[in-house]
Amino acid sequence: MEEKTIQIAGSITVDELANALGLSVTQLIGELFKNGIVATINQRLDFETASIIIDELGLKNVKLEKKNTATKTSDFHRELSDKAVSRPPVVAVMGHVDHGKTTLLDTLLHKKTVDDEAGGITQHISAYQLKHDDRWITFLDTPGHEAFAAIRQHGAMLTDIVVIVVAADDGVKPQTVEAINFAKSANAKIIVAINKIDREGADIPRTMADLSQHGLQPEEWGGDITMVPISAKQGTNLEQLLDMILLTADIEELKADVDIPAEGLVIESHMETGRGSVVNLLVTGGELKTGDFIVAGSAFGKVRTMLDFKGKPKGKATPSTPVTITGFKELPNFGDRFVEVSDEKTARKMALLNAQALANETASANVTSSDLLRMMNVADNSKVFNVIIKGDVLGSVTSVVDSLKMIDTHGEITLNIVSTGVGDINENDVYMAAGGNTVVYGFNVSVPINISKMAARDNVPVRTYRVIYELLDDAKHEMENLLDAEIIEEDKGEMKVLGVFRTEKTSIIAGGEVLKGDVKPAYLARVVRDKTYLGEVEVTSVQKEKIDVKELTAGETGGLALKTENKLQLQIGDRLKFFTREMKKKTL
Ligand code: GDP
Repeated sequence: MEEKTIQIAGSITVDELANALGLSVTQLIGELFKNGIVATINQRLDFETASIIIDELGLKNVKLEKKNTATKTSDFHRELSDKAVSRPPVVAVMGHVDHGKTTLLDTLLHKKTVDDEAGGITQHISAYQLKHDDRWITFLDTPGHEAFAAIRQHGAMLTDIVVIVVAADDGVKPQTVEAINFAKSANAKIIVAINKIDREGADIPRTMADLSQHGLQPEEWGGDITMVPISAKQGTNLEQLLDMILLTADIEELKADVDIPAEGLVIESHMETGRGSVVNLLVTGGELKTGDFIVAGSAFGKVRTMLDFKGKPKGKATPSTPVTITGFKELPNFGDRFVEVSDEKTARKMALLNAQALANETASANVTSSDLLRMMNVADNSKVFNVIIKGDVLGSVTSVVDSLKMIDTHGEITLNIVSTGVGDINENDVYMAAGGNTVVYGFNVSVPINISKMAARDNVPVRTYRVIYELLDDAKHEMENLLDAEIIEEDKGEMKVLGVFRTEKTSIIAGGEVLKGDVKPAYLARVVRDKTYLGEVEVTSVQKEKIDVKELTAGETGGLALKTENKLQLQIGDRLKFFTREMKKKTL
């Protein structure tokens, strides 16, 4: 069968998809209907929905492709001209939590950051530079916890070299593997820093063996990965690590064009009173100067002030240089590509075009895959967890949202993000959450006192966090609460009733022989007469020769006091099938 590729820029109408597939509109609407969606000819479907439908139709020869419309980082790696000049390497330090990333950056930069981070985690991606052998190296300060996978993914796109930090006394851990995978997917060169070699339990050969199990063969053993044993804390071998970074940069011949309009990536953005939008950029090509007009996604502006990573004014930023600028009229998105344009009019026009393209990509799909999945899941009683996310900067909102989406709910819970935004929790958030069973989460933001009063009055849970995984734990806990408890029953034994001594409204005293298993107080029993189930009773006490005992086992005879709630009456010959029942809360 002939292969067919359909490009989708964000969303596609039912009519367009039917045409592209060579189906009649009625056929396609019929298929959507089977999946619980009542669609009209002009309805827009998002990419995932279209993929699911194509799957359902069994169209194996059709491939869907996302078409990029707005300026995305994906159109980055441009061809270099022969005038390209060499540029500093951009290095990301990654690895498992507590393996020493912050300490390494800290020691390298002689900057005390370990103590003042909330929860010891670097919260926002930022960048620093340092000089070694009279050459600059740019370090991306990538956040440590796996929850920041999203940020790291963006960071990885810029990254030439990934320094993977592995503690020699702990070996390869899940986030080490994650870092290896990131580096590979970003096509970055890997250098391993085997850290904490000053520790007693440090075992360098074992750590190397561990790493080679994960596809990183040390040079010492004939492989191609440079591994430098270091102590980030004591500063051992750090010079050697920097040498290796520069050597790798030399081999890679890292270059960039400078006589092109400036371009790069937004790596952080937030609003500041008095300064307006404060945006961290990493220049990847050209030279950015104060007074330049720039566009990033739907945001544009004129570079009003430009500071280097230490906060000193900088007139010109060359490739691989991180800078903080002001002058954007609205906040650009973290991860957006920025470009320099000739004048304000062009900037405004381009921002508008980007905004329109973006709107096409996101807002106009009126059937999204989560709607579709929700419909498909109705039969499984899928439950919905509603959240509103507020954060101090766009980067953290994006990470929280991305991380929440990564929580695996085994298809039992649908995450519904009611809204997101930058800034303190406000009236509107509470208003939107009221009555809707919605949790409002704030990350690094505050709740004004009048708002918390309003939330209390309207019974809206508002929770703020400074450490992302605490927020995620809470969300996970909330989702677990939505899950139905699991009932676990275990068969214990069986008794044949040989005598009934007393029957009252809610209690029975009877005697019998245990045929198998055992019977203990607090067991439950199903009463069965001639293969018919009559009801359930609870064992309140067990006696043997009129004395209370802890149990009766197979072969023994004795008496039972039973509790019944449905006026059940026992007869000689009835069977009591004992079991225990536990309600177990499901976890994610
Ligand atoms: P991160 O989570 O990867 O950023 O790890 P940190 O840099 O916060 O380090 C975690 C802990 O390990 C801290 O208590 C550090 O003082 C300690 N640490 C980091 N590097 C070394 C090292 O080289 N030697 C020793 N002994 N401790 C270290």
